Amino acid sequence: MEQQQLMSDLMDLLGKKNVLTDATALSVYECDAAPSFKALPDVVVFADSTQQVSDIVKIANRHNTPFIARGGGTGLSGGMLSVQGGIIIALNRMDRILEVDIENEYAVVEPGVVNLLLSQAVQEYGYHYAPDPSSQKACTIGGNIAENSGGPHTLKYGVTSDHILGMEVVMPDGEIITLGGEVEDVPGYDLRGLMIGSEGTFGIVTKATVKLTRNPQAYQTALAVFDNMDDASNAVSTIIGNGIIPAALEMMDTLVIKALEEAFQFGFPLDAEAILIVELDGIKAGMQNQTDRIIDIFEQHHAREVNYAKDDEERQELWKARKSAFGSFGRLAPNYITQDGVVPRTTLPKVLRRISEISEKYQIAIANVFHAGDGNIHPIVLFDERDADQCERVEHVNKEILTVCAEVGGTITGEHGIGVEKMDYMPLIFSRADIQVMKDVKDIFNPTGLCNPGKIFPTAASYEKLGLQPNTSHENIETNI
Ligand SMILES: Cc1cc2nc3c(=O)[nH]c(=O)nc-3n(C[C@H](O)[C@H](O)[C@H](O)COP(=O)(O)OP(=O)(O)OC[C@H]3O[C@@H](n4cnc5c(N)ncnc54)[C@H](O)[C@@H]3O)c2cc1C
Repeated sequence: MEQQQLMSDLMDLLGKKNVLTDATALSVYECDAAPSFKALPDVVVFADSTQQVSDIVKIANRHNTPFIARGGGTGLSGGMLSVQGGIIIALNRMDRILEVDIENEYAVVEPGVVNLLLSQAVQEYGYHYAPDPSSQKACTIGGNIAENSGGPHTLKYGVTSDHILGMEVVMPDGEIITLGGEVEDVPGYDLRGLMIGSEGTFGIVTKATVKLTRNPQAYQTALAVFDNMDDASNAVSTIIGNGIIPAALEMMDTLVIKALEEAFQFGFPLDAEAILIVELDGIKAGMQNQTDRIIDIFEQHHAREVNYAKDDEERQELWKARKSAFGSFGRLAPNYITQDGVVPRTTLPKVLRRISEISEKYQIAIANVFHAGDGNIHPIVLFDERDADQCERVEHVNKEILTVCAEVGGTITGEHGIGVEKMDYMPLIFSRADIQVMKDVKDIFNPTGLCNPGKIFPTAASYEKLGLQPNTSHENIETNI
């Protein structure tokens, strides 16, 4: 009865065609791009305006029903899953670019604008939107804000939080507020900063003022092939240690090379252990000098060959290899999990060796394609989900990889977020007191816990899984709301 009333309230507000209740239609929304985690929502609604989002949230509160924002559904940590049922609020119809102000270098956009389409829309003015997740053809600005997403060019340009000036937000009680503005350094607490990366648990972003970045005058892109993974990793640290900050510095290992060759035939040598792609951008003058220094560093670290992009077409071709990597993993295994951790750059050789040992120990293949310049590793754990024994070993593999990241002073996610995937591992890097402060802040924004529940915070079982003692001073942590 209560459920029927909820559906009827939503249909009255949005019209029947904007409310999905059919089980087959709902199944499209049961997971994001990490299909190991699934949960069926009770209902999916399509919002078209801030006022509608606010009204939906008020209805959800009246019926004490969880609600979750969804952008492109490309998340990799199960962030948009309705783990306690409830309403998924699909925002992809709120996809308008409302204002472009080139003189002040910003744009105002709705949350469902697809990342790449924003850059394409301002290209004619010689500008782009800098954060460029590899999923940029499908992910949305709202999702990027929630996950504080980065991408290959994060090394020089920073992550989403460096490019968002302000936001309009529907709070978990339905109230509409503004955080930040159109200029830097709005007085008061930086609640804009707090909202970015809150994984949809502090409210729903319905508008964003984003910085636009002038396109660089020139690029130089090179690809180096290494026989030895340690040499490639050490070259990365040496480049940065020499004060050169490329726009991007990406690494792919031998399994990724194999998958790319099987799928697309780029002509990479199959016996190489690693490929580095490096891109410089900026003012043309002086760039050749920096490129020459990078080539010297590659040679010092025994690169087997180095190829330059001579023009934009060749540059696109080099990037095509990197951006096609995820599309080629089907050649290696039926399923994969994209792990995400950050380690200090200088520990890359050690960490990659440890990952190889973990792969050996559990007989689970692991490929590596990652943002080497930021030490943001992405071990791709390859398996077959139809094999229960493999699935169990994959659990151990994930835990050990993240433990290694924590042990070397790194962290358990660089850009994919915690969501449901990593909440068990939060105690690897945060004390109970740290987690309690985060929970206290969440409770201020989201006191009923109805806004995207069941994410981020570890449960009692999480501590047990990690072999940690239950805590007496912060009992609240043990309740995952
Ligand atoms: C092939 C591939 C490559 C990827 N590469 C990268 C990469 O290089 N860098 C990177 O950072 N990520 C990467 N990702 C992960 C993913 O694309 C990002 O996390 C992205 O920001 C998610 O955006 P989305 O619109 O798809 O969000 P969704 O998956 O729909 O949602 C993600 C989270 O954001 C919340 N959310 C969505 N919209 C809003 C809103 N308007 N207000 C509040 N909360 C909201 C959801 O509730 C959920 O918690 C990759 C994913 C894939 C599949």
